[in-house]
Amino acid sequence: MKILTPDFFYNSIYDVKLDELKQLNIEGLIIDIDNTLVGWDTSLPTLAVKEWLNSLSTQDFKVCLVSNNNKKRVMHFSKELNLPFIYQAKKPMKRNFLAAMKILGTTKDTTAVIGDQIFTDVLGGNRLELITVLVKPIKSKEFWWTNLVRKIERRVIKKVIK
Ligand SMILES: [Mg+2]
Repeated sequence: MKILTPDFFYNSIYDVKLDELKQLNIEGLIIDIDNTLVGWDTSLPTLAVKEWLNSLSTQDFKVCLVSNNNKKRVMHFSKELNLPFIYQAKKPMKRNFLAAMKILGTTKDTTAVIGDQIFTDVLGGNRLELITVLVKPIKSKEFWWTNLVRKIERRVIKKVIK
């Protein structure tokens, strides 16, 4: 169960306590897009998302967006952001978490993952012993398999909170 347990759990990205991550020596953030930054059906970053991402760089966090979604979606979303990104990441596979750390110039000890899914973001980060931050998904109305995963996740989260 520990491999599925996030280090932190917040309602949204805006609630993430960045000073706590700073205290843990985190310098680089691997951030999911769909349902973490915006709903899966929102094609561009909102003003609030842009401001939050800007606040990360003013606090000296380096950011790489890592998404399992396709090239078209991820490139379109990222085009105004001036941030590195990885699409079709196949999270929870380790490969693209490692690729993101290479881009960020960070190590296992200085990287955190922020995402909305236990079985991709949290599992992938925990497999590499990164700090993992789970946020509540913005929109849960997704494909049937995602809904199934969500059901299992809710059970896991209940147990984790206990
Ligand atoms: Mg997501």
